[in-house]
Amino acid sequence: MTSQRTRERMIASLLDKGIKNWAVLDVMRTTPRHMFLDEALSHRAYEDTALPIGFNQTISQPYVVARMTEAVLGQRAPEQGKPARVLEIGTGCGYQTAVISQLAERVWSVERIQPLLEKARKNLSVLGIRNVRFKHDDGSLGWAEHAPFDIIIAAAAPQQVPSELLNQLADGGRLVLPVGSERGGQELLLIERHGDEFSSRVLEAVNFVPLYVGQVQY
Ligand code: SAH
Repeated sequence: MTSQRTRERMIASLLDKGIKNWAVLDVMRTTPRHMFLDEALSHRAYEDTALPIGFNQTISQPYVVARMTEAVLGQRAPEQGKPARVLEIGTGCGYQTAVISQLAERVWSVERIQPLLEKARKNLSVLGIRNVRFKHDDGSLGWAEHAPFDIIIAAAAPQQVPSELLNQLADGGRLVLPVGSERGGQELLLIERHGDEFSSRVLEAVNFVPLYVGQVQY
């Protein structure tokens, strides 16, 4: 049930739902999502659905990971190469981290629940991924020391876009994040920086866990 065939089915479903970036689809085809789940759930790893990872958190739905990754990468000419610096907020078990780390040069990832961070660290090390640095902290503050970032991805929803994340975006950089409340509905936003101006576009309605601001747990 974790076979190549079930993975191909997941990729077919992503294509059906409108994902077009072949680099993203290729990375998701070869990244073993079942390794990020508890054994009892690994048979469901290639269903296009969010699943529990403990601590009341979830591994994101593959379609949402693909959509966010495709949106932040944008249209890149081959001579531009990979984006150099990525910040991720909400590492969770590290699945999105694994996907984006194969499409960028370096990734900095922040998670507020230490045991999840340790899980992610282990998962990426087993996969031989070495271009990621982790931090146990409140990710709504970003990671100022390593800014500016070409790409920022947040996997948990604040009520409003944290200003630190906007400040830490490079000129021409892109930030993708869900904004809103669990009850009132959330929108996935793509924000682009042009000098001191920011443009923002709604990609779609989504349903993420909340981004806890000002709190580090466990
Ligand atoms: N990226 C994961 C999804 C993780 S779910 C994947 O690939 O599947 C979202 C994560 O955001 C949770 O692990 C949660 O603990 C974390 N989170 C919530 N608020 C946070 C904050 N302020 N700083 C850092 N991480 C946060």
